[in-house]
Amino acid sequence: MTEIPPTRHKDFIRQIIADDVAENKNQGRVVTRFPPEPNGYLHIGHAKSICLNFGIADENEGGVCHLRFDDTNPTKEELEYVDSIQRDVRWLGFDWGENLYYASDYFDQLYRYAVVLIKEDKAYVCSLPPDKIREYRGTLTEPGKNSPHRDRPVAENLDLFERMKAGEFEDGAHVLRAKIDMASPNISLRDPVIYRILKRSHHRTGDRWCIYPMYDFTHCLSDSIEGITHSLCTLEFQDNRAVYDWVLDQLPVERHPQQIEFARLNLSNTLLSKRMLLKLVQEGVVEGWDDPRMPTLSGLRRRGYTPRAIRDFCDRIGLAKKNSQVDMALLEHCVREDLNESAQRVMGVLRPLKVIIDNYPEGQTEDLEFQNHPGDTAMGTRMVPFSRELYIEQDDFREEAPKKFFRLAPGREVRLRYAYYITCVGMEKDEKTGEITALHCTYDPETKGGSSPDGRKVKGTIHWVSAAHALEVQVRLYDHLMLTPDEDQKEAPELTDLLNKDSLEVLNSCRVEPGLKDIAPGSRVQFERLGYFCVDPVDSSPGKPVFNRTVSLRDTWAKIEKAQKSKKAK
Ligand code: ATP
Ligand code: MG
Repeated sequence: MTEIPPTRHKDFIRQIIADDVAENKNQGRVVTRFPPEPNGYLHIGHAKSICLNFGIADENEGGVCHLRFDDTNPTKEELEYVDSIQRDVRWLGFDWGENLYYASDYFDQLYRYAVVLIKEDKAYVCSLPPDKIREYRGTLTEPGKNSPHRDRPVAENLDLFERMKAGEFEDGAHVLRAKIDMASPNISLRDPVIYRILKRSHHRTGDRWCIYPMYDFTHCLSDSIEGITHSLCTLEFQDNRAVYDWVLDQLPVERHPQQIEFARLNLSNTLLSKRMLLKLVQEGVVEGWDDPRMPTLSGLRRRGYTPRAIRDFCDRIGLAKKNSQVDMALLEHCVREDLNESAQRVMGVLRPLKVIIDNYPEGQTEDLEFQNHPGDTAMGTRMVPFSRELYIEQDDFREEAPKKFFRLAPGREVRLRYAYYITCVGMEKDEKTGEITALHCTYDPETKGGSSPDGRKVKGTIHWVSAAHALEVQVRLYDHLMLTPDEDQKEAPELTDLLNKDSLEVLNSCRVEPGLKDIAPGSRVQFERLGYFCVDPVDSSPGKPVFNRTVSLRDTWAKIEKAQKSKKAK
């Protein structure tokens, strides 16, 4: 398990909880919950909620966080999602211990509570069709209209509800509604539906039920049944809080948890809606929920993100009461920081250009000893073969180089990382296309290890691999999935218009150090000068690793932060 970094912020929720504990409210207990609906995979937005709920439980003595599946809609829920959610929460480094719950475990109790409401004339069976229910609900500026069934006698409601449960009616024929106030300025209080008929098998209760409770009824009661003290949710539930409290106030419950809302995470260039992510999966825009371009935890994991980086990110974004958007560059900055410390550094060439060292003996190979992580000797050393024919990055050579181009060019000398100085003395070109097919260089044997005894300096250092020894591999480079950075445009009707068509680039003839042949799937390395890469756990096979680029080395966040600071200073 990853070590839990200490929280930097005492946000408004932590403050409320600290005050409650100080006042011995709930006998000083802190019980939170993370309540996913198993209708998709968890994404980075959920990570914010997970870190908050489990984090608070960890920070408070005797604190507990429940994992509760909010499984009240059998039309969209699947076992696959239940499993993936548990895997992802564990992967982030959190543990719910014994406290795994399902709202569906409360179906009997919820039904009994609904009957109590009906008996007290606080709920009624409404037989309006769904579109009429919507129409009668009114708008923000107009009050709603009472349903013609609002005054049904209690006995009739009890009978109808019982028969709904017995399966006598088709989907949509009736619903059970709380009798609150059709004229309330809060639309959530205009007689919300609390039960509906759905003749579907449920992944846990099978065909036992054909009526299912709605969120507004289920959530508060599940919280109360489990003894949750603080029910933390995102801002879109602000209006529902009134229903949450109303339901608990009407019923003979022992505990009334406190709902507190916080701003959801919005991330630039990123869709964070399960409905939209499901669409990407279903329409084949991505390979699946774990496509490395997806903002899902399984996608980020496959991309090479670490739990530590994600938790660090969730800590840095803090908690607010107002929605805003976080720049993707911050998330990238967090993973870079983590991998900078933990990833082994190796050499890999993405777009190879052959280099022949004319004065290096043919057939000779020498093994050079490299630090696995300069600056961290605990990570040890490895041997890297050097020979007469090498590959360097195409980008590291210019036939006509500007002055500030400090890499290789005709007549110029550069350092091959940890190896020798070389000077470019010639080129081979394809007769037809004029394309450069190989470079000829000479090396200075005196510069072994990458420095010259005569104190001669070179400006550039480039990476390389030995042509005969290198392993040919596939590398995938990723870019944002969404073209638009802004949240409000992400829900446009045509999803395809928002997609970045160049979000994936597959390179098939990359060359990497031979020592990477048997690297374990999921391993993370830094290809020097290029970025951090992760061995794809799905498409790699023994002896044939495939690398996903997690993030390049360019830190745009540092730039953004600098710009923000200088703006503030002005
Ligand atoms: P989505 O909007 O992706 O469909 P959801 O809210 O329907 O998400 P749930 O499974 O109901 O998904 O979410 C579980 C918990 O995670 C809820 O408490 C919800 O408030 C929280 N959550 C979901 N998205 C975010 C987000 N972007 N930022 C913070 N918390 C989130
Ligand atoms: Mg939800």
